[in-house]
Amino acid sequence: MLTKKKRRSFLRDRMHEVSIALDLLNIATEQCRKSGYSKIEAINLKIGRASGIMPDALIFSFDAIKKDSLADTALLNIEEVPVSGECSDCSSKFTVDEEYILSCPVCNSNSFNIISGREMDIIDMEVS
Ligand SMILES: [Zn+2]
Repeated sequence: MLTKKKRRSFLRDRMHEVSIALDLLNIATEQCRKSGYSKIEAINLKIGRASGIMPDALIFSFDAIKKDSLADTALLNIEEVPVSGECSDCSSKFTVDEEYILSCPVCNSNSFNIISGREMDIIDMEVS
């Protein structure tokens, strides 16, 4: 369990995730209300490894702000999407374990397009 002081500094360090969590909560709450439901049970998300979003920090931030909202007991389920690219020289498609691509693993070219790994999408929500 984090103390209050530690929690505050954690949130300050992770302002990025806090603002994403706020956006997420606003979007989810609006969707839930529009559909005529009053409670959000879970939000299923896809987050790319190259998105710069730390899933743990996002969950922590979301838990800190969800109280007194329709999502006060909601869970964030996060599916991490690996980074993949397509080489502009040899047309290979590849997936990497890292958060970035330096060059094509087949021909070493520096010319490639990132196909996935930068996204943050809401897949769906469980409401009641
Ligand atoms: Zn290549």
